Amino acid sequence: MNHFVLPSPILEIKDKFTLHAGVQLYVKRDDLIHPVISGNKWRKLKYNIDNCRKNGYDTILSFGGSYSNHIHALAYAGKLFNLRTIGVIRGEEHKILNPTLKDVTEWGMELYFMDRKTYRIKDKDIVLDDLKKKFGNFYLIPEGGFNKEGFAGCTEIRDEIGISFDYICCAAGTGTTAAGLAASLHGREKLLVFPVLKGAEFIQANIHVWLKTGNQHKMEHVHCLYDYHFGGYAKATQELNDFIKAFYNTHNIPLEPVYTGKLFYGLYDLIKKNFFPKGSIIVALHTGGLQGQRGFLS
Ligand SMILES: *Cc1c(COP(=O)(O)O)cnc(C)c1O
Repeated sequence: MNHFVLPSPILEIKDKFTLHAGVQLYVKRDDLIHPVISGNKWRKLKYNIDNCRKNGYDTILSFGGSYSNHIHALAYAGKLFNLRTIGVIRGEEHKILNPTLKDVTEWGMELYFMDRKTYRIKDKDIVLDDLKKKFGNFYLIPEGGFNKEGFAGCTEIRDEIGISFDYICCAAGTGTTAAGLAASLHGREKLLVFPVLKGAEFIQANIHVWLKTGNQHKMEHVHCLYDYHFGGYAKATQELNDFIKAFYNTHNIPLEPVYTGKLFYGLYDLIKKNFFPKGSIIVALHTGGLQGQRGFLS
């Protein structure tokens, strides 16, 4: 499975809502980049893996929750590129591994469970030094791939889109993907960001961090929609789940309730409310992430 589909496909979808609002909607299918390392997780790993090898490391360590798409993608990439991987997982060890953690251990990732209190200060030297004593030297990727290399990979999405558009939309956890999109906007293109966490006003700042001096005016084209978190990270409602099922039945595109379900729900809510001027061309970025919710649509 060393086959990456890049550039990822883009396709137009139509339904009664897009037709009624008079908008054109395209989906950029980053979920189809790779059968395992899907979506923005490959975008964020790519230059980290390059950098890791360039600097002579043979081990990558990173952090995540027990269903983390990032940890899952990293483990498979480690197997593919012959790198030792260590996953530091938030919280206590479970006697029975969930499907995500079962996969990653099968691919050779070493797991280390960190109590939540320590996990909160995981980026501090005192914690990292301790991890180095346990595992030896390693190349560190911050949780969610929130670093310069992760950002750099996400700046490549915009220019793969071969059509002109007015809006590009994405879900946000750390905002790394959104930052890459923001930095690569052309002209009057606008970015709509749908944070999946409650109280995610930090997203704006996280995006700003990666915009170089001279590029910061692009923040004017970035608009965060804070009302589609459905109660917070990994929280969902029946309404959200019903939306995801209906969307799958209509378009045959799988979504999940943690990220892309919230993005598309929010986007369709805006479409229904005539947020977009008639004639608008909208691109929604499907960031993948289906592994954490296996069986959701079956
Ligand atoms: C990790 C993830 C995101 C969040 O990306 P950020 O760059 O951290 O904002 C969005 N969608 C999916 C499917 C993800 O797995």
